[in-house]
Amino acid sequence: MELKQKLEILADAAKYDASCASSGTDKRTSTNGKGIGSTTGMGICHSYAPDGRCISLLKILLTNFCVYDCVYCVNRVSSNVPRARFSVDEVVNLTLSFYRRNYIEGLFLSSGIIRNPDYTMEQVVEVARVLREVHDFRGYIHLKTIPDASPELMVRAGLYADRLSINVELPTIASLQSLAPEKDGKAIRRSMGQLRLKIEESKEKTLTGKRPPRFSPGGQSTQMIVGADSTDDRAILDTSANLYGAFRLRRVYYSAFSPIPDASNMLPLKAPPLVREHRLYQADWLLRFYGFDAEEIITGQDGMLDLDVDPKTAWALQHREQFPVDLNRAPKAMLLRVPGLGVTSVARILAARKVRAIRYDDLTRLRLSLKKVLPFVVLPDYHPGRSLDDNHLKQRLQQPVPSQQFALF
Ligand code: SF4
Repeated sequence: MELKQKLEILADAAKYDASCASSGTDKRTSTNGKGIGSTTGMGICHSYAPDGRCISLLKILLTNFCVYDCVYCVNRVSSNVPRARFSVDEVVNLTLSFYRRNYIEGLFLSSGIIRNPDYTMEQVVEVARVLREVHDFRGYIHLKTIPDASPELMVRAGLYADRLSINVELPTIASLQSLAPEKDGKAIRRSMGQLRLKIEESKEKTLTGKRPPRFSPGGQSTQMIVGADSTDDRAILDTSANLYGAFRLRRVYYSAFSPIPDASNMLPLKAPPLVREHRLYQADWLLRFYGFDAEEIITGQDGMLDLDVDPKTAWALQHREQFPVDLNRAPKAMLLRVPGLGVTSVARILAARKVRAIRYDDLTRLRLSLKKVLPFVVLPDYHPGRSLDDNHLKQRLQQPVPSQQFALF
């Protein structure tokens, strides 16, 4: 099979991994010879560095052959899809030639499981080793690790990769047992625990003052599929909170389940609304940066996030007695709970009010969304009056429904 054909199959097969996916625009292409550019091509995706830089990555699978039969996966052994497999050298050469052409700044490599987890992981690690040791590649490398692979291989992967990830796949161990019986949820968490120890060890200084070898300096992340089973948002956020706490993950990625061809009847026929995935990301942000607990973020009786408004606004609407908040006096923890105030704007408010009182006109200078903020704050020259008692406040704060996700088939 030609390299280009392999690239088409294995870049397309990698699109299910949300760790660095981009979506939500119209389908456009110039493959008919008209125009220039395309929004439908696979293979190069974007990820964000901790400092906010956007990094383009060659995102591919080493192979989409797989001996496992996870029912939610298009690459499962029983799936009827075209298959392909790269050699180690092919991935290395593709990465280097894309890099030299300035198409990418790094590689995101995942794989189906061929023969057994150790054999697959050896191949994945070998790609990273050759890039780093033979070609002195300084670009970004993100490796998806195989949870059942031996700890020694995980350690080697961490020496070459900037970031490692292990997918928990589904929000609960019970769902994983039912939809991916060959996978072991406890083993996945054990591997995450081992990675956490190695990542932490690599940051400690030794007695001689020297640092141990670098190990996955970008930390570890995971992904879970949302909507393939009946787990509600409360349980999903509980799982995320546990993963962040127990394994110090950098990110949990949420990927809305996308129906696959010839699917098992254990799966839903329809994808969940994309806005659910969006709300989970917003809720995840509240967990990590805004001091919210998983239990308080869910405001609905059904254990689900409110799809009409973002989770912070939903919380504020349910706790109206705690508002309006005085922007000049409230502690930081309360400012972070005001709808429309982000971590950066709260920092700006705290700095500005040390110099003088913040007034209504300053809100525009601080680039705040007045529509969101005004019902919940009080200033020396502004009071929201009875707007918090308004039964239509939620409707007034609703935003237009975000764009629909591309169908994956
Ligand atoms: S192990 Fe990975 S690639 Fe294989 S079927 Fe399961 S999810 Fe798909």
